[in-house]
Amino acid sequence: VKTHQILRNKGENVYCISPEATLADVVSKLVDKNCGSLLVMNGDKVAGIITERDILRACAADERPLSKIRVIEKMTVDVVIGSPDEDVNTVMGTLTEKRIRHLPIVEQDRLVGIISIGDVVKAQVDHLAMENHYLKSYIHS
Ligand code: AMP
Repeated sequence: VKTHQILRNKGENVYCISPEATLADVVSKLVDKNCGSLLVMNGDKVAGIITERDILRACAADERPLSKIRVIEKMTVDVVIGSPDEDVNTVMGTLTEKRIRHLPIVEQDRLVGIISIGDVVKAQVDHLAMENHYLKSYIHS
């Protein structure tokens, strides 16, 4: 299974936020969109990524209320990205090795979607279920 096949099913939608927004805005959007990360965009350029983990760290380490902390202070600037023709097994390796759960997918400088660890697990489960189905019908034929 390739990442573009996962994106075909889940869509190319990537939820974004501005670097000048606050962490309170991030929390609202994560809850509203029911997701775990937002890509930080400066116009049409990727400036970073911010996830629920960063919110947790800010809560633990920063005295200020979330409405007083800017995204730019807490985001990760060096964004690890994947490509549409990458195999799901490779993506699993990247997510595990880098200890991240979100991988934006970029094709020739164009953002084409984001894959979460949940999407990877779903793809594997679907794949195994299908394989199991065919093996059973093969055994019983
Ligand atoms: P996560 O497990 O995805 O919630 O993220 C854990 C930490 O890694 C957070 O500090 C994120 O900002 C960061 N992070 C998540 N995804 C990426 C990514 N694709 N590239 C770089 N950093 C990331």
